[in-house]
Amino acid sequence: MIVNVDADRCRGHGICCALCPDVFELSDDGYATVRPGEVPVELESAVRDAVMQCPERAITAT
Ligand code: SF4
Repeated sequence: MIVNVDADRCRGHGICCALCPDVFELSDDGYATVRPGEVPVELESAVRDAVMQCPERAITAT
């Protein structure tokens, strides 16, 4: 799974980080970033939840 946060859309709500802290983290400037490395299969469902619940539609996962 390849996960991306569109920095132009992200508004730093942190919902993604709450749903899946092993994949998303808030950077020092308050916006979400994707932690480096492969997303474990067992976290893919949580990532999809984050995609659906991001109010800004900033996350893509393929
Ligand atoms: S939920 Fe969406 S807008 Fe909020 S921090 Fe995560 S990526 Fe950014």
